[in-house]
Amino acid sequence: MKNIIEIIVPCFNEEKCIRPFHEEIKRVFSKEIPNYDYCIFFVDDGSKDSTIDEIKAVASEDEGKIKYVSFSRNFGKESALYVGFAQSTGDLVVPMDADLQHPPALLPQMIAAIEDGYDCAGACRVSRVGESKIRSFFSSSFYYIINALTSIELKPGATDYRLMKRSVVDAIVLFTERERFTKGIYSWIGFKTKWIEYENVEREIGTTKWSFRGLMHYALNGFFAFATRPLRLVVYFGMLVVLIAIIMAVHYSIGVLRNPEAVRNGFTSVIVVVTFFGGIITMILGVMGEYLARIYMEVKKRPIFIVRETNVK
Ligand code: UDP
Ligand code: MG
Repeated sequence: MKNIIEIIVPCFNEEKCIRPFHEEIKRVFSKEIPNYDYCIFFVDDGSKDSTIDEIKAVASEDEGKIKYVSFSRNFGKESALYVGFAQSTGDLVVPMDADLQHPPALLPQMIAAIEDGYDCAGACRVSRVGESKIRSFFSSSFYYIINALTSIELKPGATDYRLMKRSVVDAIVLFTERERFTKGIYSWIGFKTKWIEYENVEREIGTTKWSFRGLMHYALNGFFAFATRPLRLVVYFGMLVVLIAIIMAVHYSIGVLRNPEAVRNGFTSVIVVVTFFGGIITMILGVMGEYLARIYMEVKKRPIFIVRETNVK
């Protein structure tokens, strides 16, 4: 029996991509990785075109190798990936975009990495050829900010395209939070990952499903799903303001001792008091925010640890 690789494909209005995608997978598996077999799991994310009909047609031609789930409306790529992971059964699982921007030709290298003992082999774009300058700019700023302000480390250029062992997929499914940011989850769970670099491939069929607004929403979602460090900054900022107020007060008092006439100038004392309480209030807000963040993290019920291997039954 050949080992099976389960390919999870989120599809949103991809009617023209389903067939070419299936053909390419068939070709790569028969020519380049003949000791593995594929199973394609299409997740139709509420497409408005005939994506689901295409999927059904392909499923009836290639019997037993195509699974599908079709959503009642568009829930977004993250939800599509979640159902794919949760309902996958393969020992090796790989999410891939329907538009062939995740080149199946990388699969042999990914498989080699897994055979070498890695838990996961991820594709990483080294160039962004064909992508608009502004989009590249926003996305590199996003990586910079998220790496600076959260406890997770995202590799710039890392994609959702990664071949994973069952243990990794099981760990991802443990994250039941609603606002999902899969890239952050991949990083959070750890495991030994091998990066395989490739040049960006332009989309040949159809158009990108991400609007600028969609990407902004995605970025902020990712940020708030993992970042609580900014709240700590609020507390520090409050402390700094209080410190400034104290210095101002001391400075003012010394001035008054030297020159009692200055007492008539009430303006300075008002500024000192306002700054002091401004700082105190900011600090308190930061502290409250910290508690709120803790509650937020608790309600997500994330796993406390993830086991890579063990001999404990
Ligand atoms: N996608 C999805 N739901 C969405 C948006 C996108 O399932 O709401 C799928 C889409 O069909 C494709 C993949 O996610 O298979 C990546 O989308 P796209 O190629 O448009 O993104 P880009 O490559 O431009 O980042
Ligand atoms: Mg694409």
